Amino acid sequence: MSERFDVVVIGAGPGGYPAAIRAAQNKLKVACVDEWRNLDGSYAYGGTCLNAGCIPSKALLESSELYVRAKEEFAVHGIGVGTVTLDLAAMQKRRASIVKTMTGGIAALFKANGVVGIPGHGRLEPGNKVTVTGADGGRRTLEAEHVVLASGSVPVRLPAVPHDGKVIVDSWTALEFDAVPPRLGVIGAGVIGLELGSVWRRLGSQVTILEAVEQFLPMADQAVAKEALRQFKKQGLEVKLGAKVARATVTGGAVGVTYGGAAGEHTLEVDKLVVAVGRRPFTSGLLAEGTGVGIDARGFIEVDEHCRTAAPKVWAVGDVVRGPMLAHKGKEEGVMVADLIAGLYGEVNYRAIPSVIYTAPEIAWVGQTEEQVKAGGRPYKVGTFPFAASGRARAMEAGAGMAKVISARDDDEILGVHVIGPMAGELIAEAVLAMEYSASTEDLQRTMHAHPTLSEAIHEAALAADKRAIDSINR
Ligand code: FAD
Ligand code: NAD
Repeated sequence: MSERFDVVVIGAGPGGYPAAIRAAQNKLKVACVDEWRNLDGSYAYGGTCLNAGCIPSKALLESSELYVRAKEEFAVHGIGVGTVTLDLAAMQKRRASIVKTMTGGIAALFKANGVVGIPGHGRLEPGNKVTVTGADGGRRTLEAEHVVLASGSVPVRLPAVPHDGKVIVDSWTALEFDAVPPRLGVIGAGVIGLELGSVWRRLGSQVTILEAVEQFLPMADQAVAKEALRQFKKQGLEVKLGAKVARATVTGGAVGVTYGGAAGEHTLEVDKLVVAVGRRPFTSGLLAEGTGVGIDARGFIEVDEHCRTAAPKVWAVGDVVRGPMLAHKGKEEGVMVADLIAGLYGEVNYRAIPSVIYTAPEIAWVGQTEEQVKAGGRPYKVGTFPFAASGRARAMEAGAGMAKVISARDDDEILGVHVIGPMAGELIAEAVLAMEYSASTEDLQRTMHAHPTLSEAIHEAALAADKRAIDSINR
C-alpha cells in the first residue's frame, strides 16, 4: 500500500531537513527520509553536518582551543592553573553528547512541525514515487506531488592511498580518535585539513599537512591567506605546499606517505593519515531508471538557479548540486524550494554566501577577493584594519589578523569583505547583510558600532577604504 504526501524529501542534512520543516510550515503534508546510521547502527537525522562535520568539528575546535589557552595564555592574564592535563575521553564524550542533542533536536522539530520522519534508504522512481527500504529490508512506497533530493556528499578517496578506517582515515574517523596520534599526516590543506590539523596539533600531535597546490588557500583573499599561513606556521602546524601525494603504504601501525614536489619525491612517516582532498556528490542508489533527473560529468544533480531538476516537480538542494559545499548554502536552497513549491517567493543570493574557516585566528569572507576584483577590471579601493589596533582584540589577547573591505571606485558598492582574526565567523554576518542590501562603504562608515567591540574592525576597514580611519594610520 502506498502513502501520499505533498512533499517527500530524501536526506535530512542541512539541505533536506529545513526543506521539510519549511514545507510543513507552508501547510503541506511532508515526509523526510534519511538513511544516516552512526557507528552503533542507530539512525540519526542531521546528515554529515550534525553527525560528522560542522558540529562535532566545532565542538573539538572549541575544546582544543581552550586547552591550548589554559596552557599557554592564562599565565599572561595572571592566572595560574598548575599543570593542565588532557582528558581526551571526556572531551570526546562532550563532542558526542552535543551531536546527540542536536540530532535529537531535529527529530523534535520534525514532530513539532508535523513532518513524518522516516528512517531508511529512499529511491526516486519514475512518476514521483519514492520507495523506502528500512533496516530490516522492508519496503514501503510513498507517492509525492513534489520530491526534494538532498542526498549530500561523501569524502573523495585517493586510489593510491588505501582507506582502512584505522590508520588511513577520513574526516569522520579523525573526529573520533580515542588517542592523540603522536605524528599526524593530513592530505589537503583545505578547510577540513586546516580545522582538523589544528585540533590535533593543539592536543599534542606533530601535524604535517601535504597540499598538492603551490598556492595556500587559493579560494581566499591572498593577503588573508598569507597572514593565515604565517600564523599557522607560528603555531607549529607544518604545511607543505606543492606536495602532491602519490601513494601511501601501511606497515605495522604506521603509514609511509610518498609525495612529489619541485625537488623530487619525498617520504613522510606518520601514525595516522587523514585524507581531506574534497568531497563528491552522493547519489548512489538514489535514482531508478527513467526518472529524468540529469547528472553532470562530476556527479552533481543538474539544477537551474531555483534548484529545479530536469524532471517535473523534482528538486535538488545542498552538496549534491553545484555551488560551495556549505551547510548554510544547502539550508537556504532547501527553504527556497519549500517556498516555491507552496507558490511563495523564494531565491538564493549566490553572490553573498559567507565562508568561514574555524581555525585560530578564524578566517571569514563574503563576496570577491581582491584578486578576483582586479581580474574583473573594475576600479576598486581597499581598506584594511589590523586587530592589533583594536582595544577589544587586545583585551582578548587576540591581536593577530585584520579586516579588509573592498569596494568599487565608481559607486562605492561593497564587493568583498575578508576577515582573519577573533570571531571572524561572527563578524562576517554584518558584511553579508550589507551586501544583501547592496550597501556602500559609506553605509558601513555611517553605521555606529559599539565600543569596544571586534565589529569596530569592519567599521574602521570601511573608513580606511577612503583613508578616513580614525584608529589606525591611513596608507
Ligand atoms: P548531508 O549533510 O551530507 O546530508 C545528506 C543526508 O542524506 C545524509 O544524512 C545521508 O545519509 C542522507 N542520504 C543520502 N542518500 C540517501 C538516500 N538515498 N536515502 C535516504 N537518505 C539518504 N559546512 C559548513 O557550512 N560549516 C562548517 O563548519 C562545516 N564543517 C564541516 C566539517 C567537516 C569535517 C565536514 C566533512 C563537512 C563540513 N561542512 C561544513 C560541510 C557540511 O557538512 C555540508 O555542506 C552539509 O552537511 C551539506 O548538507 P546536505 O544536506 O546537502 O548533505
Ligand atoms: P577542500 O576542497 O577544501 O580542500 C582539499 C584540498 O586537497 C585542496 O587544497 C586540494 O588541492 C588538496 N589535494 C587534492 N588532492 C591532493 C593530493 N593528491 N595531494 C595533496 N593535496 C591534494 O576539501 P576538504 O577540506 O576535504 O573539504 C570538503 C568540503 O567540506 C569543502 O567543500 C568545504 O567547503 C566543506 N567544509 C567546510 C567547512 C567550513 O565551512 N568551515 C569545514 C569543513 C569542510
